Amino acid sequence: MAAGSLIGDLTAAGPVLTDGAWGTEMQARGLAAGETPDFWNLSHPDHVEEVARAYVTAGSQVVLTNTFRANRIALARHVDVERIAEVNRAGVEISRRAAGDQARVFASIGPCGKLLMTGEVDEAALRAAFAEQAQALAAGGADAIVIETMSDLAEAGIAVEAAKATGLPVVACMVFDSGKNRDRTMMGVTPTQAAEELARAGADAIGANCGTGIEDYIPICASLAAATPLPIWIKPNAGLPELDNGEVVYRTSPSEFAANVPKLLEAGARFVGGCCGTSPRFIEAMRRELDG
Ligand SMILES: [Zn+2]
Repeated sequence: MAAGSLIGDLTAAGPVLTDGAWGTEMQARGLAAGETPDFWNLSHPDHVEEVARAYVTAGSQVVLTNTFRANRIALARHVDVERIAEVNRAGVEISRRAAGDQARVFASIGPCGKLLMTGEVDEAALRAAFAEQAQALAAGGADAIVIETMSDLAEAGIAVEAAKATGLPVVACMVFDSGKNRDRTMMGVTPTQAAEELARAGADAIGANCGTGIEDYIPICASLAAATPLPIWIKPNAGLPELDNGEVVYRTSPSEFAANVPKLLEAGARFVGGCCGTSPRFIEAMRRELDG
């Protein structure tokens, strides 16, 4: 099967509903502040599976994996860093059990947490880390790989190439939350630059996740769609993060969030879901909106 055809088959049937945030769902099940969520794939696989299952039950057609930080650079200081491949394989297997025949498993790769442009990490080490993660995700049986929450186009491109080398379809997303119109990444990358460059790197779908809220992502979605014929993937936060008594809170409600879904689709989105501050309740509300 050609790498792009899964994405094409999914989107041919209409808008595809993905999932919402995982971190907060794991915290609700006992993940401590400062604990590395990815290692729960080995220590608490039952709780991780509950999170994935909650999204499948809510109507997600695509669920991600609890592997966002599971690369050797981001977790370099973790005592069990040598088990990183195992963490990734387990993450896919857990989401697969929850998905059954109801949903596809798109495995998550997040940023390495170090800056390429300042030399904090070098390109060869970054390539090796993403290759190791992508290969473990593929070995676990992922249907596709999602590169997400990227700010640096060079890092995102390296991740796309590593993911493409597995032969799986690849979705590449960046986070647009900076600049006076909050429509650039922290490194100043515009949606147009992201779409063009990530398509050139071989991505099968291009997107935006996290950020400052669903309304801000409507024009960003339109810019991405104008810059590439590839399917667009959008997973916004439930508004801007705010501090309330030292706790991060998001103000957008599930119904407000879902009410913006038609505008995202009009702007060209083919995959929709949520990022920080969203929950299975948001996905349920989006499912109702999509089923209209
Ligand atoms: Zn987020």
